[in-house]
Amino acid sequence: MLLKKPFITTVAVRSIFAFLFFVPITLYAQQYDLLIKNGHVIDPKNNIDRIKDIAVANGKIAKVDNDIPAAQSKKTIDATGLYVVPGLIDIHTHVFVGSKADKFADGIYSVSPDDFSFKSGVTTVVDAGTSGWRNFPLFKEQVIDKSQTRVLAFLNIAGSGMSGKPMQEDINDMNADSATLVAKKYKDIIVGIKIGHYEGSDWTAFDKALDAANKSNTPMFVECHLPQYSLQDQLQKMRPGDIITHSYEQVSERMPVVDEQGKLRPFVLAAQKKGVLFDVGHGGAGFWFSQAVPAFQQGLAPNSFGSDLHRFSMNAGMKSMLNIMSKYMAIGMSLEDVVTRATSNPAKSIKREDLGNLSEGAVADIAVLNVQNGKFGFIDAGGNRLEGNKKLEAELTIRAGKIVWDLNGLAAQQWKQ
Ligand SMILES: [Zn+2]
Repeated sequence: MLLKKPFITTVAVRSIFAFLFFVPITLYAQQYDLLIKNGHVIDPKNNIDRIKDIAVANGKIAKVDNDIPAAQSKKTIDATGLYVVPGLIDIHTHVFVGSKADKFADGIYSVSPDDFSFKSGVTTVVDAGTSGWRNFPLFKEQVIDKSQTRVLAFLNIAGSGMSGKPMQEDINDMNADSATLVAKKYKDIIVGIKIGHYEGSDWTAFDKALDAANKSNTPMFVECHLPQYSLQDQLQKMRPGDIITHSYEQVSERMPVVDEQGKLRPFVLAAQKKGVLFDVGHGGAGFWFSQAVPAFQQGLAPNSFGSDLHRFSMNAGMKSMLNIMSKYMAIGMSLEDVVTRATSNPAKSIKREDLGNLSEGAVADIAVLNVQNGKFGFIDAGGNRLEGNKKLEAELTIRAGKIVWDLNGLAAQQWKQ
């Protein structure tokens, strides 16, 4: 009996010591939730293009340094041989998915963001005017609030957004004050005003969109479906910071940027120099090598890689934003320039410079990419093929510190029998 007493006392003393010293030290040692080690970080906003470690805590980037010890993190991912970049931003998508059979707005022509975003490294999508000031609250409730992907929006100047004819062309339903009111009310989500799908020749619709963009102090997003407006006039009316999409299309709806002789039209380059931003907006018909390649060679590189994701583009030549980025590498753009146009550039164009970077304190939206080497083929809207020897693939996607895509189980535990 006598022997037992000191034993119990020793255990008690040990427990107290463990509580007082060991536990706090352990907590301090594992101050990070996640550590991505040895990856090649490309963070264009911060001019980082080298191997670094990135630590994440509480959903934010906690530290970016040359060597962060694995012991300081609860979980460590080895990203040797991979590229670590900010979560990609796709500024042209149609994600107001709903049950209407033949509509984009609240319909099946749109797609659900989470179904397509994370598997291609995208953490933020901007819906391109699928909703207008009338149905934006439904879009928010039905999709934006229910998605893990960050969903932002350009608000259509047409009250019901892309609800088909005749509604989306009703000039009386295009109201700059109502659009401004909604844009201001939801200023954390609405990043600009969209004009598109209007077949009239008067400039009232365009001017109303511009008026709403001015009043809400946001950029205007111009989609091609304005067949009676000349390209030169559209570009002339656009302000620095406004965005034109489907930049490299070759369709009857709009004059192409490259003329019949293969020469980039001078007024197009002048518009980009003035500050008009050119988005790819690939979609089902918006991207042609016959336009994109000579335009790139003659100095018109896109500012951003909007995919124009919707039901009809995702299984055709577009496929995903990573596929568009790979296409541009095949055209001759460097990986660093491609990453810039998928991260910091689109963040800037939607005036959300808190996104698209890996600054300490920023939200931990991260894409870990694999650059595959081999023989690959890329297809444009006309069914033309371009060969390339590099292809990007998303290994891991992290949204606000949470792993939302893990292609090869980089973050998973090894299974043992
Ligand atoms: Zn579109």
